[in-house]
Amino acid sequence: MPILRRLREELGASVQLKGIRIGMCLHLEAKTALLASTLEELGAEVSITSSNPLTTQDDVAAALTKRVSHVYSWYNETPKEYLENLHRVIENRPNIIVDDGGDLGVLIHKEKMADGMLGGTEETTTGVLRYRAMEKDGVLRFPVIAVNNAKSKRIFDNKYGSGQSVVDGIVRTTNVLVAGKKVVVAGYGWVGRGIALRFKGLGGRITICETDPFSALEAHLDGFEVATMEEASRFGDIFITATGNKDVISKRHFANMKDGAILANAGHFDVEVDVRGLKEICRGSRNVRKNVEEYTLPDGRRLYLLAEGRLVNIAAADGHPIEIMDMSFATQLLSVFYLTKERKLDNRVHDVPYDIDEKIALLKLKSEGIEIDTLTEEQKEYLRQWRG
Ligand code: NAD
Ligand code: SAH
Repeated sequence: MPILRRLREELGASVQLKGIRIGMCLHLEAKTALLASTLEELGAEVSITSSNPLTTQDDVAAALTKRVSHVYSWYNETPKEYLENLHRVIENRPNIIVDDGGDLGVLIHKEKMADGMLGGTEETTTGVLRYRAMEKDGVLRFPVIAVNNAKSKRIFDNKYGSGQSVVDGIVRTTNVLVAGKKVVVAGYGWVGRGIALRFKGLGGRITICETDPFSALEAHLDGFEVATMEEASRFGDIFITATGNKDVISKRHFANMKDGAILANAGHFDVEVDVRGLKEICRGSRNVRKNVEEYTLPDGRRLYLLAEGRLVNIAAADGHPIEIMDMSFATQLLSVFYLTKERKLDNRVHDVPYDIDEKIALLKLKSEGIEIDTLTEEQKEYLRQWRG
C-alpha cells in the first residue's frame, strides 16, 4: 500500500496521535489491519472490531493483536457477539471512530457515550446515509467525515473495487461460468455500475433493475437491458443486489425464479435479499459448498444463496484489491488527522476537504507512474471569466 506507507512517512514522528483513542469498525482483513496498525504506530490507542459478522479473517485478527491495543472480532460471530464486540470498542471510550455502515456510531448514540468525541469517519454509502438521517433528526452528537463521498474513494472503491471483488466472490464460491449467463444487477449506482461492467466483460448478459429514472436511463444508454425485478426474476441466472435498500428480492420474486438461480448481495448487511422470506417459502435447505446454501421451493426448484445474503465480495472473498483499499484507507488516514486538527467542526456530516481528496489522487497517479498535464495560469484565468 504505497500511498498509506508514504503518508505514514510524511506524517512522521510516532507521537502525532498520542493520547487519541480510536475505535474502528471495519471488515477485519489484511488491508484494514494495515490501516489499524498505521494509526497505532502514529501514536493512537486503537480498538477494532468488524463491521460484519462474516468478514473477519481470523488469522489476520490474531496477528493484529500484536500490533494494536485491542482486537475484538472473529469470523462467524452471532448477532449477539457482533453487538458485544461493538460494545467492547466503545467501552474503551474512543475520541475518534472509523466506521463502516454506521453501527458503531449509532451504538455510541444509543448508549449516550458521545462525550469527549472529536468525531468520526464513515467508509460506506449506507453509513453516510444513516449519519445524515441522524443529522436531519437533530440527534448527531459529533462531526462525521463522509470518506465514502470523496472522489478518491467512491469512484474507485465503490465502482472498480466492487466490480472486481464481486466477480471474485461469486466465481470463487460457485465456480460458475459467467459467459452466456443472464446476470441481473439491482441498483445502478456506483457499486452496481462496476459490477455490471465487469460481468459484461466476462460475457454475461446484463439486466439492470432500478427505481431511479436517471440511473435506469443511464443503464439503458450504457447498453444494458433494463427491467423490473418482477420481469427479471423469471429469466435471471445470477442475481446481485447493490442498492443499500431492503427486500429488493423478496418472496414474490423467488417464486418466479428458475431452478439453479444464484442469489448474491453486494450492498448492505443482509437485508437486500429477503433471506427470512426465502426460508419461509422453501421446504428446506442444505449447505452444498462453503458459503453456498441450497434452498428448495415446494415444487423442487433450487435457489443458491451465497454468504447468507451478506456482502459476497468480503464475506466470501478478500474484498476489494489492495491497490483500491490503499486509496480508500489513505483518505481515511488523512480524514482522521483532519479531525484531530479541526476541533471546532459542527455536529454534521462533512465532505472530505478537497485538498485531501486531490492529494490522494495525485499520489495514486504517482504510484502508478502516470503523469498528467497541468493548467497554465492563462488557462486557469480563461476558465474563471465569462467574456469568451
Ligand atoms: P448509490 O446510491 O450510488 O446506488 C444505489 C442505487 O440503488 C441507486 O441508483 C438507487 O436508485 C438504487 N436503488 C435503491 N433501491 C432500489 C430498489 N429497491 N431496486 C433497485 N434499485 C434500487 O450507492 P452505492 O455507492 O452504489 O452503494 C450501494 C450499496 O453498496 C450501499 O449499501 C453501500 O454501503 C454498499 N457498498 C458495498 C460495497 C462492497 O464492497 N460490497 C462497496 C461500496 C458500497
Ligand atoms: N458494514 C456494512 C456496510 C457495507 S461495507 C455491511 O457489512 O454490510 C462496504 C464497504 O466495505 C465499502 O465501502 C468498502 O470500502 C469496504 N471494503 C471493501 N473491500 C474491503 C476490504 N478488502 N477491506 C476492508 N474494507 C473493504
